[in-house]
Amino acid sequence: MPLLELEEALAKILATIPPPRTERVPLIESPGRVLAGAIQSPIDLPAFDNSAMDGYAVRAIDVGSAKPEAPRRLRLIGKAAAGERFGGEVTAGTCVRLFTGSPLPRGADAVVMQEDTRAGINAADEILVLAPVAPAENVRRRGEDVEMGVTLATAGELLTVGRAGLLAAAGLTGVIAGRQPVVGVLATGSELKDAGQPLEPGQIYESNRITLAALTRGAGAIPKVLPVVTDSLAATRLALSEAFDQCDAVVTSGGVSVGDLDFVRGAFEQIGGEVCFWKVAIRPGRPFVFGRYGEKLLFGLPGNPVSAFVTFLLLVRPALLRWQGAVDLSMPMRPGVLTAPLTNPDGRRHFMRVRIHASGKVDSAGMQGSHILSSLAASNGLLDLPPGAALAAGAPVEVMCGGNVLGMKARRGGFPFSSRIGRDGGRRLVSSAAVSARQHGTSSPLPSILNGGEGEESVPCPRA
Ligand code: AMP
Ligand code: MG
Repeated sequence: MPLLELEEALAKILATIPPPRTERVPLIESPGRVLAGAIQSPIDLPAFDNSAMDGYAVRAIDVGSAKPEAPRRLRLIGKAAAGERFGGEVTAGTCVRLFTGSPLPRGADAVVMQEDTRAGINAADEILVLAPVAPAENVRRRGEDVEMGVTLATAGELLTVGRAGLLAAAGLTGVIAGRQPVVGVLATGSELKDAGQPLEPGQIYESNRITLAALTRGAGAIPKVLPVVTDSLAATRLALSEAFDQCDAVVTSGGVSVGDLDFVRGAFEQIGGEVCFWKVAIRPGRPFVFGRYGEKLLFGLPGNPVSAFVTFLLLVRPALLRWQGAVDLSMPMRPGVLTAPLTNPDGRRHFMRVRIHASGKVDSAGMQGSHILSSLAASNGLLDLPPGAALAAGAPVEVMCGGNVLGMKARRGGFPFSSRIGRDGGRRLVSSAAVSARQHGTSSPLPSILNGGEGEESVPCPRA
Protein backbone atom coordinates (compact mmCIF):
# COMPACT_ATOMS: atom_id res chain seq x y z
CA MET A 1 0.00 0.00 0.00
CA PRO A 2 1.34 3.50 -0.85
CA LEU A 3 2.07 6.09 1.82
CA LEU A 4 -0.93 8.37 2.23
CA GLU A 5 -0.74 12.09 2.82
CA LEU A 6 -2.20 13.07 6.16
CA GLU A 7 -5.16 14.86 4.56
CA GLU A 8 -6.08 11.82 2.50
CA ALA A 9 -5.76 9.53 5.48
CA LEU A 10 -8.02 11.71 7.59
CA ALA A 11 -10.56 12.08 4.80
CA LYS A 12 -10.74 8.30 4.46
CA ILE A 13 -11.24 7.90 8.19
CA LEU A 14 -13.93 10.58 8.44
CA ALA A 15 -15.79 9.11 5.47
CA THR A 16 -16.29 5.87 7.39
CA ILE A 17 -17.58 7.38 10.64
CA PRO A 18 -21.20 6.35 11.17
CA PRO A 19 -23.81 9.02 11.98
CA PRO A 20 -23.89 9.79 15.71
CA ARG A 21 -26.22 7.92 18.00
CA THR A 22 -27.84 10.21 20.51
CA GLU A 23 -28.83 10.14 24.15
CA ARG A 24 -30.26 12.51 26.72
CA VAL A 25 -27.65 13.94 29.05
CA PRO A 26 -28.45 15.81 32.28
CA LEU A 27 -27.20 19.38 32.05
CA ILE A 28 -24.85 18.89 34.98
CA GLU A 29 -22.94 16.32 32.90
CA SER A 30 -23.25 18.15 29.58
CA PRO A 31 -20.05 20.27 29.28
CA GLY A 32 -17.73 18.62 26.79
CA ARG A 33 -20.55 16.74 25.07
CA VAL A 34 -21.54 17.28 21.43
CA LEU A 35 -25.05 18.61 20.89
CA ALA A 36 -27.24 16.57 18.55
CA GLY A 37 -29.60 19.42 17.70
CA ALA A 38 -30.01 23.18 17.96
CA ILE A 39 -31.54 24.59 21.13
CA GLN A 40 -33.84 27.62 21.19
CA SER A 41 -34.42 29.65 24.30
CA PRO A 42 -37.84 28.96 25.84
CA ILE A 43 -37.73 32.27 27.75
CA ASP A 44 -36.34 35.80 27.70
CA LEU A 45 -33.16 36.39 29.70
CA PRO A 46 -33.48 38.28 31.93
CA ALA A 47 -37.08 37.16 32.18
CA PHE A 48 -38.13 40.57 33.63
CA ASP A 49 -36.68 44.07 34.07
CA ASN A 50 -34.63 44.03 37.26
CA SER A 51 -32.15 46.00 39.27
CA ALA A 52 -28.41 45.73 38.61
CA MET A 53 -27.63 47.27 42.01
CA ASP A 54 -28.63 47.50 45.61
CA GLY A 55 -30.50 50.82 45.64
CA TYR A 56 -33.85 52.48 44.99
CA ALA A 57 -36.27 52.25 42.08
CA VAL A 58 -37.15 55.77 40.97
CA ARG A 59 -38.54 57.80 38.11
CA ALA A 60 -35.37 59.29 36.54
CA ILE A 61 -37.22 62.54 35.98
CA ASP A 62 -37.68 62.94 39.75
CA VAL A 63 -33.94 62.98 40.51
CA GLY A 64 -32.61 64.68 37.37
CA SER A 65 -30.88 67.56 39.18
CA ALA A 66 -29.87 65.80 42.41
CA LYS A 67 -26.45 66.73 43.88
CA PRO A 68 -24.86 66.10 47.28
CA GLU A 69 -25.42 69.74 48.25
CA ALA A 70 -28.94 69.77 46.77
CA PRO A 71 -30.37 66.25 47.27
CA ARG A 72 -33.82 65.26 46.00
CA ARG A 73 -36.19 64.00 48.66
CA LEU A 74 -38.21 60.87 47.87
CA ARG A 75 -40.77 58.96 49.92
CA LEU A 76 -40.00 55.28 50.42
CA ILE A 77 -43.17 53.30 49.69
CA GLY A 78 -41.94 49.71 49.78
CA LYS A 79 -39.28 47.13 49.38
CA ALA A 80 -38.61 44.08 47.17
CA ALA A 81 -35.77 41.64 47.81
CA ALA A 82 -34.50 39.47 44.94
CA GLY A 83 -37.22 36.88 44.41
CA GLU A 84 -39.99 39.21 45.66
CA ARG A 85 -42.16 41.66 43.75
CA PHE A 86 -43.42 45.05 44.88
CA GLY A 87 -47.06 45.06 43.87
CA GLY A 88 -47.60 48.84 43.93
CA GLU A 89 -46.43 51.57 41.58
CA VAL A 90 -43.65 54.15 41.81
CA THR A 91 -45.38 57.51 41.34
CA ALA A 92 -43.95 61.06 41.32
CA GLY A 93 -41.73 61.68 44.35
CA THR A 94 -41.64 58.09 45.58
CA CYS A 95 -39.14 55.26 45.53
CA VAL A 96 -38.91 51.53 46.36
CA ARG A 97 -35.98 49.78 48.05
CA LEU A 98 -34.44 47.17 45.70
CA PHE A 99 -31.54 44.73 45.75
CA THR A 100 -29.52 43.24 42.88
CA GLY A 101 -31.95 41.12 40.87
CA SER A 102 -35.15 42.60 42.38
CA PRO A 103 -37.88 43.10 39.78
CA LEU A 104 -38.28 46.74 38.78
CA PRO A 105 -41.65 47.95 40.08
CA ARG A 106 -44.28 49.50 37.80
CA GLY A 107 -43.79 53.23 37.25
CA ALA A 108 -40.01 53.19 37.88
CA ASP A 109 -37.57 53.52 34.98
CA ALA A 110 -34.21 53.63 36.76
CA VAL A 111 -32.36 52.55 39.89
CA VAL A 112 -30.31 54.91 42.05
CA MET A 113 -27.47 53.00 43.63
CA GLN A 114 -27.42 52.88 47.39
CA GLU A 115 -24.06 54.71 47.52
CA ASP A 116 -25.75 57.76 45.92
CA THR A 117 -28.40 58.00 48.65
CA ARG A 118 -28.72 58.88 52.33
CA ALA A 119 -31.51 58.39 54.86
CA GLY A 120 -33.49 61.60 55.45
CA ILE A 121 -33.78 63.07 58.92
CA ASN A 122 -37.29 64.50 58.70
CA ALA A 123 -39.18 61.20 58.48
CA ALA A 124 -38.48 57.47 58.65
CA ASP A 125 -39.60 57.03 55.06
CA GLU A 126 -37.50 59.90 53.66
CA ILE A 127 -34.67 59.02 51.22
CA LEU A 128 -32.26 61.66 49.95
CA VAL A 129 -30.91 61.10 46.45
CA LEU A 130 -27.49 62.69 45.94
CA ALA A 131 -26.89 62.11 42.22
CA PRO A 132 -29.04 61.98 39.08
CA VAL A 133 -29.70 58.81 37.07
CA ALA A 134 -30.58 58.49 33.41
CA PRO A 135 -33.65 56.54 32.35
CA ALA A 136 -32.79 52.79 32.26
CA GLU A 137 -29.66 53.32 34.34
CA ASN A 138 -28.84 50.32 36.59
CA VAL A 139 -31.75 48.41 35.05
CA ARG A 140 -31.21 45.03 33.40
CA ARG A 141 -33.83 44.89 30.68
CA ARG A 142 -35.99 41.86 29.96
CA GLY A 143 -34.51 39.93 27.02
CA GLU A 144 -31.35 42.05 26.77
CA ASP A 145 -29.16 38.95 27.19
CA VAL A 146 -31.25 36.48 25.17
CA GLU A 147 -34.66 36.86 23.56
CA MET A 148 -37.12 33.99 23.68
CA GLY A 149 -36.76 31.78 20.57
CA VAL A 150 -33.17 32.76 19.89
CA THR A 151 -30.75 29.89 19.15
CA LEU A 152 -28.71 29.19 22.25
CA ALA A 153 -26.60 26.38 20.79
CA THR A 154 -26.24 24.62 17.46
CA ALA A 155 -26.10 20.98 16.37
CA GLY A 156 -22.62 19.53 16.33
CA GLU A 157 -21.31 22.02 18.85
CA LEU A 158 -19.05 20.95 21.67
CA LEU A 159 -20.83 22.27 24.73
CA THR A 160 -18.58 24.60 26.69
CA VAL A 161 -18.95 25.26 30.39
CA GLY A 162 -20.14 28.79 29.65
CA ARG A 163 -22.81 27.59 27.23
CA ALA A 164 -24.00 24.96 29.69
CA GLY A 165 -24.43 27.86 32.15
CA LEU A 166 -26.52 29.71 29.57
CA LEU A 167 -28.72 26.65 29.00
CA ALA A 168 -29.18 26.31 32.75
CA ALA A 169 -30.22 29.96 33.00
CA ALA A 170 -32.78 29.33 30.26
CA GLY A 171 -34.26 26.57 32.41
CA LEU A 172 -33.05 23.50 30.54
CA THR A 173 -32.49 20.35 32.54
CA GLY A 174 -30.64 18.36 29.89
CA VAL A 175 -29.57 18.14 26.27
CA ILE A 176 -29.62 15.54 23.51
CA ALA A 177 -25.99 14.72 22.76
CA GLY A 178 -24.02 12.34 20.58
CA ARG A 179 -23.15 9.12 22.40
CA GLN A 180 -19.54 8.86 23.51
CA PRO A 181 -17.69 5.97 21.93
CA VAL A 182 -16.19 3.37 24.23
CA VAL A 183 -12.61 3.01 23.02
CA GLY A 184 -10.53 -0.04 23.82
CA VAL A 185 -6.92 0.91 24.54
CA LEU A 186 -4.71 -2.02 23.81
CA ALA A 187 -0.90 -2.18 23.94
CA THR A 188 0.97 -4.91 22.11
CA GLY A 189 4.54 -5.99 22.78
CA SER A 190 6.11 -8.97 24.56
CA GLU A 191 8.69 -6.62 26.06
CA LEU A 192 6.08 -4.54 27.90
CA LYS A 193 5.73 -4.76 31.64
CA ASP A 194 3.06 -3.18 33.80
CA ALA A 195 4.38 -0.61 36.24
CA GLY A 196 4.86 -1.86 39.77
CA GLN A 197 6.76 -4.98 38.76
CA PRO A 198 10.53 -5.37 38.44
CA LEU A 199 11.89 -5.33 34.91
CA GLU A 200 13.59 -8.43 33.52
CA PRO A 201 16.49 -7.85 31.10
CA GLY A 202 15.18 -6.35 27.85
CA GLN A 203 11.80 -5.40 29.28
CA ILE A 204 10.40 -1.87 29.42
CA TYR A 205 7.51 -0.31 31.29
CA GLU A 206 4.36 0.05 29.23
CA SER A 207 3.47 3.73 28.85
CA ASN A 208 1.22 4.15 25.82
CA ARG A 209 -1.99 3.14 27.54
CA ILE A 210 -1.58 6.01 30.00
CA THR A 211 -1.21 8.65 27.28
CA LEU A 212 -3.73 7.10 24.89
CA ALA A 213 -6.39 6.72 27.58
CA ALA A 214 -5.93 10.37 28.55
CA LEU A 215 -6.05 11.51 24.92
CA THR A 216 -9.18 9.40 24.41
CA ARG A 217 -10.82 11.14 27.36
CA GLY A 218 -9.64 14.48 25.96
CA ALA A 219 -11.53 13.68 22.75
CA GLY A 220 -14.73 13.17 24.75
CA ALA A 221 -14.66 9.37 24.45
CA ILE A 222 -14.59 6.70 27.15
CA PRO A 223 -11.36 4.71 27.32
CA LYS A 224 -11.42 1.06 28.29
CA VAL A 225 -7.87 0.10 29.18
CA LEU A 226 -7.17 -3.53 28.26
CA PRO A 227 -4.37 -5.91 29.27
CA VAL A 228 -1.04 -5.91 27.42
CA VAL A 229 -0.93 -8.34 24.50
CA THR A 230 2.14 -10.44 23.77
CA ASP A 231 3.49 -10.59 20.24
CA SER A 232 1.77 -13.63 18.78
CA LEU A 233 -0.85 -13.90 16.10
CA ALA A 234 -3.18 -15.93 18.32
CA ALA A 235 -2.90 -13.60 21.30
CA THR A 236 -3.43 -10.52 19.11
CA ARG A 237 -6.44 -12.11 17.39
CA LEU A 238 -8.03 -13.00 20.71
CA ALA A 239 -7.32 -9.58 22.24
CA LEU A 240 -8.75 -7.75 19.23
CA SER A 241 -11.92 -9.79 19.04
CA GLU A 242 -12.52 -9.42 22.78
CA ALA A 243 -11.87 -5.68 22.49
CA PHE A 244 -14.33 -5.29 19.61
CA ASP A 245 -16.95 -7.22 21.61
CA GLN A 246 -16.86 -4.54 24.29
CA CYS A 247 -15.98 -1.34 22.43
CA ASP A 248 -17.08 0.94 19.58
CA ALA A 249 -13.49 1.49 18.48
CA VAL A 250 -10.13 -0.02 19.37
CA VAL A 251 -6.86 1.87 19.55
CA THR A 252 -3.80 -0.39 19.56
CA SER A 253 -0.18 0.54 19.94
CA GLY A 254 2.75 -1.35 18.47
CA GLY A 255 2.88 -4.30 16.10
CA VAL A 256 1.85 -2.42 12.96
CA SER A 257 5.21 -2.19 11.26
CA VAL A 258 6.87 -4.65 8.87
CA GLY A 259 8.64 -6.86 11.41
CA ASP A 260 8.07 -10.58 11.82
CA LEU A 261 6.50 -9.85 15.19
CA ASP A 262 4.02 -7.21 14.00
CA PHE A 263 0.68 -8.98 14.14
CA VAL A 264 -1.99 -6.29 14.44
CA ARG A 265 -2.91 -6.03 10.75
CA GLY A 266 -2.84 -9.76 10.12
CA ALA A 267 -4.81 -10.58 13.25
CA PHE A 268 -7.36 -7.89 12.46
CA GLU A 269 -7.94 -9.27 8.99
CA GLN A 270 -8.18 -12.82 10.33
CA ILE A 271 -11.01 -11.89 12.70
CA GLY A 272 -12.91 -10.32 9.79
CA GLY A 273 -11.66 -6.73 9.88
CA GLU A 274 -11.11 -4.73 6.73
CA VAL A 275 -7.91 -2.70 6.50
CA CYS A 276 -8.65 0.64 4.80
CA PHE A 277 -5.12 1.96 4.73
CA TRP A 278 -1.72 1.51 6.28
CA LYS A 279 1.11 4.03 6.52
CA VAL A 280 0.86 7.80 6.49
CA ALA A 281 3.56 10.16 5.25
CA ILE A 282 4.31 11.84 8.56
CA ARG A 283 7.01 11.79 11.17
CA PRO A 284 6.68 10.55 13.79
CA GLY A 285 4.13 7.90 13.05
CA ARG A 286 4.37 6.39 9.58
CA PRO A 287 3.15 2.84 10.32
CA PHE A 288 -0.46 3.71 11.18
CA VAL A 289 -3.25 1.35 10.21
CA PHE A 290 -6.92 2.17 9.96
CA GLY A 291 -9.59 -0.44 9.49
CA ARG A 292 -13.26 -1.25 9.86
CA TYR A 293 -14.82 -4.05 11.80
CA GLY A 294 -18.45 -3.81 10.75
CA GLU A 295 -19.42 -0.33 12.01
CA LYS A 296 -16.54 -0.37 14.50
CA LEU A 297 -13.14 1.18 13.92
CA LEU A 298 -9.55 0.06 14.38
CA PHE A 299 -6.80 2.61 14.85
CA GLY A 300 -3.50 0.74 14.87
CA LEU A 301 -0.90 3.17 16.16
CA PRO A 302 2.87 2.69 16.06
CA GLY A 303 4.45 1.53 19.30
CA ASN A 304 6.99 4.29 19.77
CA PRO A 305 5.43 6.48 22.44
CA VAL A 306 5.72 9.80 20.59
CA SER A 307 4.47 8.26 17.34
CA ALA A 308 1.45 6.87 19.17
CA PHE A 309 0.78 10.23 20.79
CA VAL A 310 1.09 12.28 17.60
CA THR A 311 -0.90 9.93 15.36
CA PHE A 312 -3.65 9.86 17.97
CA LEU A 313 -3.89 13.65 17.96
CA LEU A 314 -3.81 13.92 14.18
CA LEU A 315 -5.99 10.99 13.15
CA VAL A 316 -7.84 9.43 16.08
CA ARG A 317 -8.96 12.54 17.94
CA PRO A 318 -10.88 14.02 14.98
CA ALA A 319 -12.46 10.62 14.30
CA LEU A 320 -13.69 10.23 17.88
CA LEU A 321 -15.09 13.76 17.86
CA ARG A 322 -16.88 13.18 14.55
CA TRP A 323 -18.27 9.88 15.93
CA GLN A 324 -20.04 12.01 18.54
CA GLY A 325 -21.31 14.35 15.80
CA ALA A 326 -18.85 17.21 16.28
CA VAL A 327 -18.65 19.65 13.38
CA ASP A 328 -15.42 21.45 14.23
CA LEU A 329 -12.55 18.99 14.56
CA SER A 330 -9.72 21.50 14.47
CA MET A 331 -7.04 21.80 17.09
CA PRO A 332 -6.46 25.14 18.78
CA MET A 333 -3.63 27.08 17.13
CA ARG A 334 -1.33 29.72 18.56
CA PRO A 335 0.76 32.10 16.52
CA GLY A 336 4.38 32.45 17.56
CA VAL A 337 7.86 33.30 16.39
CA LEU A 338 10.84 30.94 16.20
CA THR A 339 13.76 31.74 18.47
CA ALA A 340 16.18 29.57 16.47
CA PRO A 341 16.24 28.00 12.99
CA LEU A 342 14.33 24.74 12.50
CA THR A 343 14.73 22.42 9.56
CA ASN A 344 13.14 19.25 8.22
CA PRO A 345 15.60 17.59 5.86
CA ASP A 346 13.33 14.53 5.67
CA GLY A 347 10.97 13.68 2.83
CA ARG A 348 8.03 13.41 5.26
CA ARG A 349 6.15 16.09 7.10
CA HIS A 350 7.51 16.40 10.61
CA PHE A 351 5.28 17.22 13.56
CA MET A 352 7.92 18.60 15.83
CA ARG A 353 7.62 18.88 19.60
CA VAL A 354 7.99 22.53 20.51
CA ARG A 355 7.46 24.87 23.41
CA ILE A 356 5.49 28.01 22.88
CA HIS A 357 6.03 30.51 25.65
CA ALA A 358 3.57 33.08 26.95
CA SER A 359 5.52 35.69 24.99
CA GLY A 360 4.83 33.78 21.75
CA LYS A 361 8.45 32.66 21.40
CA VAL A 362 8.69 29.13 20.01
CA ASP A 363 11.59 26.73 20.41
CA SER A 364 12.28 23.05 19.97
CA ALA A 365 11.39 20.97 23.02
CA GLY A 366 14.53 18.87 22.59
CA MET A 367 15.55 15.66 20.84
CA GLN A 368 12.96 14.57 18.30
CA GLY A 369 13.38 10.79 18.15
CA SER A 370 10.05 8.98 18.33
CA HIS A 371 11.16 7.19 21.52
CA ILE A 372 12.20 10.43 23.30
CA LEU A 373 9.61 11.06 25.99
CA SER A 374 11.46 13.86 27.78
CA SER A 375 10.88 16.26 24.88
CA LEU A 376 7.23 15.19 24.70
CA ALA A 377 6.94 16.03 28.37
CA ALA A 378 8.70 19.36 27.84
CA SER A 379 6.55 20.33 24.86
CA ASN A 380 3.25 22.15 24.85
CA GLY A 381 2.65 22.14 21.13
CA LEU A 382 3.47 20.62 17.76
CA LEU A 383 4.92 22.45 14.79
CA ASP A 384 4.12 21.14 11.34
CA LEU A 385 7.31 21.27 9.29
CA PRO A 386 6.84 20.33 5.63
CA PRO A 387 9.42 18.15 3.89
CA GLY A 388 12.53 20.17 3.16
CA ALA A 389 11.49 23.10 5.33
CA ALA A 390 14.20 25.38 6.67
CA LEU A 391 12.85 28.13 8.86
CA ALA A 392 15.05 30.97 10.06
CA ALA A 393 15.05 32.41 13.55
CA GLY A 394 12.28 34.99 13.71
CA ALA A 395 10.00 33.13 11.28
CA PRO A 396 6.32 33.40 12.22
CA VAL A 397 4.69 30.02 12.82
CA GLU A 398 1.42 28.64 14.13
CA VAL A 399 1.66 26.00 16.80
CA MET A 400 -0.92 23.32 17.41
CA CYS A 401 -1.78 23.50 21.08
CA GLY A 402 -4.14 20.83 22.23
CA GLY A 403 -5.79 22.74 25.04
CA ASN A 404 -5.83 20.53 28.10
CA VAL A 405 -4.21 17.73 26.09
CA LEU A 406 -0.95 19.52 25.44
CA GLY A 407 -1.36 21.60 28.57
CA MET A 408 -1.80 24.93 26.87
CA LYS A 409 -4.61 27.41 26.48
CA ALA A 410 -4.95 28.71 22.96
CA ARG A 411 -7.41 30.29 20.61
CA ARG A 412 -9.57 27.85 18.70
CA GLY A 413 -10.06 27.64 15.00
CA GLY A 414 -7.48 28.17 12.34
CA PHE A 415 -5.66 25.38 10.70
CA PRO A 416 -6.46 21.92 11.77
CA PHE A 417 -3.20 20.15 11.52
CA SER A 418 -1.05 22.13 13.74
CA SER A 419 1.42 24.62 12.84
CA ARG A 420 1.20 26.55 9.71
CA ILE A 421 4.10 28.55 8.51
CA GLY A 422 3.30 32.23 8.39
CA ARG A 423 3.58 34.37 5.29
CA ASP A 424 7.12 35.53 5.92
CA GLY A 425 8.17 32.11 7.10
CA GLY A 426 6.87 30.64 3.87
CA ARG A 427 9.21 32.89 1.95
CA ARG A 428 12.10 31.77 4.08
CA LEU A 429 11.69 28.14 3.12
CA VAL A 430 14.75 27.17 1.17
CA SER A 431 13.32 24.05 -0.32
CA SER A 432 10.14 25.74 -1.41
CA ALA A 433 9.38 23.13 -4.03
CA ALA A 434 8.79 20.64 -1.30
CA VAL A 435 6.22 22.82 0.40
CA SER A 436 3.04 22.58 -1.50
CA ALA A 437 0.41 25.27 -1.38
CA ARG A 438 -2.05 22.45 -1.03
CA GLN A 439 -0.61 21.66 2.38
CA HIS A 440 -0.15 25.16 3.62
CA GLY A 441 -2.18 27.52 1.54
CA THR A 442 -5.81 28.47 1.99
CA SER A 443 -6.76 26.03 -0.74
CA SER A 444 -6.03 23.05 1.50
CA PRO A 445 -8.99 20.69 1.65
CA LEU A 446 -8.23 20.07 5.27
CA PRO A 447 -9.91 23.01 6.94
CA SER A 448 -13.22 22.10 5.34
CA ILE A 449 -12.82 18.50 6.45
CA LEU A 450 -12.06 19.40 10.02
CA ASN A 451 -14.46 22.28 10.25
CA GLY A 452 -17.41 20.26 9.06
CA GLY A 453 -17.43 21.38 5.44
CA GLU A 454 -17.92 18.98 2.62
CA GLY A 455 -14.96 16.97 1.38
CA GLU A 456 -14.90 13.70 3.19
CA GLU A 457 -17.65 12.16 1.07
CA SER A 458 -15.41 12.31 -1.95
CA VAL A 459 -12.76 9.97 -0.52
CA PRO A 460 -14.47 6.82 0.70
CA CYS A 461 -12.63 4.05 2.45
CA PRO A 462 -11.89 1.53 -0.29
CA ARG A 463 -13.37 -1.91 0.07
CA ALA A 464 -10.57 -4.39 0.63
P1 AMP B 1 6.59 -1.52 17.61
O1 AMP B 1 5.75 -0.49 16.92
O2 AMP B 1 5.79 -2.59 18.23
O3 AMP B 1 7.64 -2.03 16.71
O4 AMP B 1 7.31 -0.75 18.79
C1 AMP B 1 8.24 0.30 18.52
C2 AMP B 1 8.96 0.68 19.78
O5 AMP B 1 8.04 1.21 20.71
C3 AMP B 1 9.66 -0.46 20.49
O6 AMP B 1 10.87 0.02 21.00
C4 AMP B 1 8.72 -0.82 21.60
O7 AMP B 1 9.36 -1.41 22.69
C5 AMP B 1 8.12 0.51 21.95
N1 AMP B 1 6.77 0.34 22.48
C6 AMP B 1 5.78 -0.32 21.89
N2 AMP B 1 4.68 -0.30 22.62
C7 AMP B 1 4.98 0.41 23.73
C8 AMP B 1 4.22 0.79 24.87
N3 AMP B 1 2.95 0.43 25.00
N4 AMP B 1 4.83 1.52 25.83
C9 AMP B 1 6.13 1.88 25.67
N5 AMP B 1 6.87 1.57 24.59
C10 AMP B 1 6.31 0.84 23.63
MG1 MG C 1 6.19 -4.32 19.17
